Amino acid sequence: MRLARRVQNIKESPTLAITAKAKMMKARGINIIGFGAGEPDFDTPRHIKDAAIRAIDEGFTKYTQVGGIDELKDAIIEKFRKDNDLQYTREEVLVSCGGKHSFFNLCQALFEEGNEVIIPSPYWVSYPVMVSMAGATPVIVPTCEDKGFRMTHEEFDKSITPATKALVINSPSNPTGVVYSAEELMAIAEIAVKNNISIISDEIYEKLCYDDSHFISIASISDNVKRQTVVLNGVSKAYSMTGWRIGYAAGSKELIKAMTNIQSQSTSNPSSISQKAAVEALCGAQDTIVEMLREFDKRRRFIVDGLNSIEGITCTMPAGAFYVFPNISAFFKRSYKGKIIGGSIEFADFLIDVAEVAVVPGRPFGAEGHVRLSYAMSMENIEEGIKRIAEAVRRLE
Ligand SMILES: *Cc1c(COP(=O)(O)O)cnc(C)c1O
Repeated sequence: MRLARRVQNIKESPTLAITAKAKMMKARGINIIGFGAGEPDFDTPRHIKDAAIRAIDEGFTKYTQVGGIDELKDAIIEKFRKDNDLQYTREEVLVSCGGKHSFFNLCQALFEEGNEVIIPSPYWVSYPVMVSMAGATPVIVPTCEDKGFRMTHEEFDKSITPATKALVINSPSNPTGVVYSAEELMAIAEIAVKNNISIISDEIYEKLCYDDSHFISIASISDNVKRQTVVLNGVSKAYSMTGWRIGYAAGSKELIKAMTNIQSQSTSNPSSISQKAAVEALCGAQDTIVEMLREFDKRRRFIVDGLNSIEGITCTMPAGAFYVFPNISAFFKRSYKGKIIGGSIEFADFLIDVAEVAVVPGRPFGAEGHVRLSYAMSMENIEEGIKRIAEAVRRLE
């Protein structure tokens, strides 16, 4: 069968691919240590599950409004007011089937052939793909590791052309853990406003900031910036609800209406049961986030120390999210049993085969010299994984 041109460049998400390979090896009885996971290892909090069970028992199991029930929209509006000092109305909010779906709807509503969309690298693997699927061109702006993987406002400015339609900003970042400061965001926002460029701010890791890194939504800088910004967020990461599929977008009425129309002709509403659970997540007790953050912080320090103790690996301390993004380029050109490590993909293959450790190669994130490890796993497993990596790389020639 001849498939549409549209799909010929779409590959499986490499994060999911490595997780699938690790799962397959696990099923064969191999004790894989999987650093690939893009989700918290904690269970969804009890009170959130109970809200879902209640929804089922009360028969809240039918279609809802396409863009989400008012109760959830109001919970989201209240969250924006309380956490980000942002005011939105129900018409400026859309609930979708995960943050990924929010980004997809946004691309379809905003981009077309001839548009350029600026994406700083390393980036979340789905951004350039979804931008391309909408017919637009991703413009990758590489950032330097020694500048902490931050796109400066000068770098942003230089990448703007008359075709530039939007900028994607993801702070805290997957995969680097970078958290932009208020000053950096202000400088970037000023340029975006001056050039009439839309800002897409993916804030899914908002709640996962460590030490004194402080989250700020770029939309909260000024009313002018807010008018040009679409904020994307969701319950997946903060509440360990990746499987529930609830994400949301907030932006201008016009854009949200267009995104809602796309959703109405594709998925319709996100699961009614998950919506009720998300209301509880946003309005109920927030103490599970504090506990999760404390645990992640411990693991973050431990894994960074462990990786840095391995000769050939350098790893900076991430300020947010739950990933580390060490530099492994010192191993390139080395070999194992005659097989040369040419890049991050070969290095990840080497680790899964020789160390039985799964990591995600940096190439699909736009950072060939790196791999991504998630520390959403127990300390014991992190320790064992580090030990295995250290032993494996010693065997490289
Ligand atoms: C996990 C993630 C999302 C959203 O995931 P969903 O499960 O679709 O809600 C969005 N952006 C980034 C960068 C992520 O890592």
